[in-house]
Amino acid sequence: MFLIKEIEFIDYNEKEVIMINLINGATDIIEKRIYDLIINNRFDEIDDEVLSCMLERKYLFKTKNEYNIFLKELDSRIEMLEKSATPNFLVVPSYACNLHCIYCYEQTYMIKGTTNIDPIKMVDIQFDRIDKIMEIYENRYGRTNDDIRITIMGGEPLLRCNLKTIKYIFMKTKERNYTIDIVSNGVDLNHYIDLFNEYKDILDHIQITVDGIKEIHDKRRIFQDGRGSFDLIMKNIKLAIKKDILIVLRVNIDETNINELPDLADTLVNEFNSNERLKPYLYLLQDGGCSGEQNIVDEKIGIKKIFELEEKNPNMSIFRKKFHPENFIESIFNDEVYQPVLRHCGASKNQFILDCKSNVYKCWHGIGNNDYRVGTFYPTYELNEEKINDWFNRSVKVISKCKNCKYRYICGTGCPAAKHMSDENMDVKGPSCVNYEELIKTIMLEKMKKYNIL
Ligand code: SF4
Ligand code: SF4
Repeated sequence: MFLIKEIEFIDYNEKEVIMINLINGATDIIEKRIYDLIINNRFDEIDDEVLSCMLERKYLFKTKNEYNIFLKELDSRIEMLEKSATPNFLVVPSYACNLHCIYCYEQTYMIKGTTNIDPIKMVDIQFDRIDKIMEIYENRYGRTNDDIRITIMGGEPLLRCNLKTIKYIFMKTKERNYTIDIVSNGVDLNHYIDLFNEYKDILDHIQITVDGIKEIHDKRRIFQDGRGSFDLIMKNIKLAIKKDILIVLRVNIDETNINELPDLADTLVNEFNSNERLKPYLYLLQDGGCSGEQNIVDEKIGIKKIFELEEKNPNMSIFRKKFHPENFIESIFNDEVYQPVLRHCGASKNQFILDCKSNVYKCWHGIGNNDYRVGTFYPTYELNEEKINDWFNRSVKVISKCKNCKYRYICGTGCPAAKHMSDENMDVKGPSCVNYEELIKTIMLEKMKKYNIL
């Protein structure tokens, strides 16, 4: 018998151990006695019933060769899926912004302002390029039935002065039957309500950040003159929800607002009464952007804190939690087969970012930074093959440290940008590790406690 190395064992209580298959998410609670036999490779002393269950759930293979064949087939299946992943596009109509958030990367952008040509012409050029990328994709993989997504971001894309340009982007998107989402600070959203109403069928959602109740938010997400933006943003969120627009509300968490999350949860529950058009989620900041690292909360400590706060205030369940292994753990608790990955995100797949200065990027965090641009699209289309390939090759099959890592099918090489402010440069060719052992253990035990499985 051959025991796979992609297994996590977590001490559950004095008598039992949780056994998790890190490839497919199969999870079982086993007796300590069985655990001892398993880790000592004494399979001949294990009941047939347990053994056949372990084989079926792929913790065990009859031979190492069988395991190698399984992995080879799995990897080539994922590789094919990821290479042919439906393209998604981000367009940046302008780098200008009406806020001056304390942690914003955009203050470090080398590129400021807006396009040097007519903004409508720039949208035409951006969509011409998108059409050409789609043509190459379709020649290679055939037409996709999936939604093709245009994300509009900035700077702040929904500045009042951008209305005509944004309207034109909606028109071009509708002509192609694609859908739109927008990353906005929500400050000028009221000026866009009629447009969103007109294009309801292609607008998927708008993501807006609210970092806490008024007292907290207004210290972080501020105008140039120091005024807070909370009241204006909340008013606009209410207006949007009234018009049936889906708002994904992001909360950036660090040391300075984590303890106040229950107050925000209460406010959201009171104001929106669990309205389905509001989907709030929590994001533990990985680095502090321009405000430095001193307030960053270690992810494990942050997760524990959030569970503790939720235990005391059930309104906290309004928040979806975007922790590192969350998709993997969700598949366990939803009893779904986990879809393993070789790549971390769209930047290593078919994601392209086209800004208003004719730069092409692969990664969101590269936007506005000449070091991370992978090409230009106007007046000529020139891609830097080497830089593009670095992104496409960012896979656990290529990066040597990842090749043998037992968490590779959950991690997919990690996000090289997560700490690039502190490391100066992001290393696209290197691994970006997260302590999955600790995180999986912490979330599993907290969730089991919450659902009274403990
Ligand atoms: S910031 Fe990280 S997760 Fe986001 S696109 Fe870039 S590499 Fe991917
Ligand atoms: S980045 Fe680190 S944790 Fe992720 S797969 Fe590679 S070696 Fe493992």
